Amino acid sequence: MDNLAPYAAWPETSLGRKYTELSPPAYRTEYQRDRDRLIHCNAFRRLEYKTQVFVNSEGDLFRTRLTHTLEVMQFSRTIARALHLNEDLTEAIALGHDLGHPPFGHAGQDILNHCLKNYGGFEHNLQSLRIVDELEEKYPQFRGLNLTYETREGILKHCSSKPAKLLGPLGNRFLNETQPTPPGLEAQLVDLVDEIAYVTHDIDDGLRAKLITIRQLREYKLFNEHYSIVLKQWPSLSQRRVIYETIRNMINEQITNVIDTSRDQLEAVQPKNIEEVRHQEDFLITFSALLYEKHLELKQFLQTQLYQNYRVRRMAFRAHQILRRLFEAFSNDPYLLPLEVQMEVQRLQAQLGSEVGRARAVVDYLAGMTDRYAILEYERLFNPLSNNL
Ligand code: MG
Repeated sequence: MDNLAPYAAWPETSLGRKYTELSPPAYRTEYQRDRDRLIHCNAFRRLEYKTQVFVNSEGDLFRTRLTHTLEVMQFSRTIARALHLNEDLTEAIALGHDLGHPPFGHAGQDILNHCLKNYGGFEHNLQSLRIVDELEEKYPQFRGLNLTYETREGILKHCSSKPAKLLGPLGNRFLNETQPTPPGLEAQLVDLVDEIAYVTHDIDDGLRAKLITIRQLREYKLFNEHYSIVLKQWPSLSQRRVIYETIRNMINEQITNVIDTSRDQLEAVQPKNIEEVRHQEDFLITFSALLYEKHLELKQFLQTQLYQNYRVRRMAFRAHQILRRLFEAFSNDPYLLPLEVQMEVQRLQAQLGSEVGRARAVVDYLAGMTDRYAILEYERLFNPLSNNL
């Protein structure tokens, strides 16, 4: 990799993998290997049929977790390249950042957290880490994908202090602090880009689904400034294309702002290496204060208008019914589970104790489901006339 900055993640100084691996490949760096392992894992393929806000069956144009992941990867690589950060690591983190999301977006996360409330709870970030550390079974020598510390640090993103205590060195930055200390810059940037990606694409999807209106969006500077310019420049353009151009310009402003602001901060602080980045008080990959304010306004609007819309709430309501009833059925009678999941129940019972192990194995199974698989599984169990078993 040309022009890697001193404060970037250098493969040579990686904190390494849990299990030592002999004979590294001839033509790939450690972070390229991480990226490749993520692309080939089962959880990655399931992203195609998981949703963020809209249930997968709503329409073919809406974002799925997979297309969201690809957008996050694309934005992240642009920033990484501009700041001379490690593009391979950035790519790996972006590809893995949403693996732990259960079916049905935030609704799924809430209900699974409720199911596990007496057993340590459910957090999608921790579940992403659990997938790459333990649940994927691809290699003869170890469980999980045995990724590097830096990729795992980026995938974990956030974590509350209680579960962080169980994570070893990776959890340290969430302890004894009023707020977590920063991770490496590649992890910081994917985390920020995740927000840029979903705020902008939820506007696009929200307008398409008619859950929000242009009139509402024009109340917000980040949208309205670009929308007005586009309208002035292209007065007779179709509305769909005006929206695309507006969103494109909004993305460009945000990404450019992150690059410029972060570059200035890095020049001021001049961290000598990734360890110095981790010991900073503040994150160095950020928006400018002014743009952050505009971004936040829009994010809050989406939170109240889009995610609280009655149609989105109905989808969430259905998701609750499906996952809660499946959890109850499987917990009461684990012999309803497919054979390989029954084996997983036994494995986790031996590891964690009878009740916790069973609940955790059932939630791992539910969290791994795609939207459509969860709906099918519900149909198999609760429709007495179903043709499927
Ligand atoms: Mg995301």
